[in-house]
Amino acid sequence: MYDYNVINNFDEIINILNHLKLIATYSLIQSNVRLQVAIIIYHHIGNKKDDYLLNRINTSDFEKQMRYLQETHEIITFEKLTQAITEKKSLPKRAAIITFDDGYKDNYTEAFPILKKYKIPATIFLTTGHIETNEIFWWNKIGYILCNTKLKKIELEDLGDISPPSIENISYSLRMIYQKFKKIPEDKKNKLINLLIQKSDIKIPKGLNKDLMMSWDNIREMNENGIDFGAHTVTHPILTNLSLDQAKLEIVESKKIIEKRLNKTITTFCYPNGFANDYNSDIIKILKDNGFICSVTAIPKMVTMKSDLFELGRLPPGYDYKSFKFCISGLYSVLNKMLG
Ligand SMILES: [Zn+2]
Repeated sequence: MYDYNVINNFDEIINILNHLKLIATYSLIQSNVRLQVAIIIYHHIGNKKDDYLLNRINTSDFEKQMRYLQETHEIITFEKLTQAITEKKSLPKRAAIITFDDGYKDNYTEAFPILKKYKIPATIFLTTGHIETNEIFWWNKIGYILCNTKLKKIELEDLGDISPPSIENISYSLRMIYQKFKKIPEDKKNKLINLLIQKSDIKIPKGLNKDLMMSWDNIREMNENGIDFGAHTVTHPILTNLSLDQAKLEIVESKKIIEKRLNKTITTFCYPNGFANDYNSDIIKILKDNGFICSVTAIPKMVTMKSDLFELGRLPPGYDYKSFKFCISGLYSVLNKMLG
């Protein structure tokens, strides 16, 4: 899970920079100074359907973004990037990599036709325990219940009363609720989510996994049509909360499952949650010892020839066309660092 809305904090700055044509200028200058690769993180693609699916880019905006990237950048694969960095080969001055996290169905139904149409490569990081099982992500369970319940509040032990999100700002209020759950240890979190389900007047439909997550057939079809796949663990835990043995199992199992299904070697990895506290040198060692050649974080940084292949930064796609250009120009990571 991730939060595109952080970009909202930069709304006014984006407007001023855009007005002064500074985004385009910055991007052009940077690309002439040194190699910069913008790795972009997507989650959901699609038009407003289910309010509780956060981090969603409209299908038409996604197509616009892809067209813009194709005109201004060379869109490359992780294979090309890792080769260039390890062998110190040159890359185009402005390059981009498209990634999707978690393995949502809409990546297949909405994004894949556009990627195929423009012949754009992309990598999807799969949480294998959620593909063709009855499991849905914990945040989707909470979101589904809270957006469908008729109850005004549900009391959850020390978390206090949890109320459905306010209609005016569903995504913001859901994010605040998810933040509360993120702070509690894994076992306790699952216990409280089960309590929420029990106490609510709503049943999560059995087929919801099928609606939300892609199938192995979808994955095989995309694999044959220019889309790469990487591992994103089996159950999406924050790896630093686990013992090293458990972390290794999550990493190695997800790699093995995808390899078996696609009959090819998987070499890219994506850390669940992906911020600085969510991985460490022991986890990186597990990746290196088990045949991975690179891994991506959710830390908003441009990739350069000096980047560490196991700590590749990625940029959010913003929320509209203007904020997209701001994010991928590299200005977002610069301002984010400056302003904390
Ligand atoms: Zn994820």
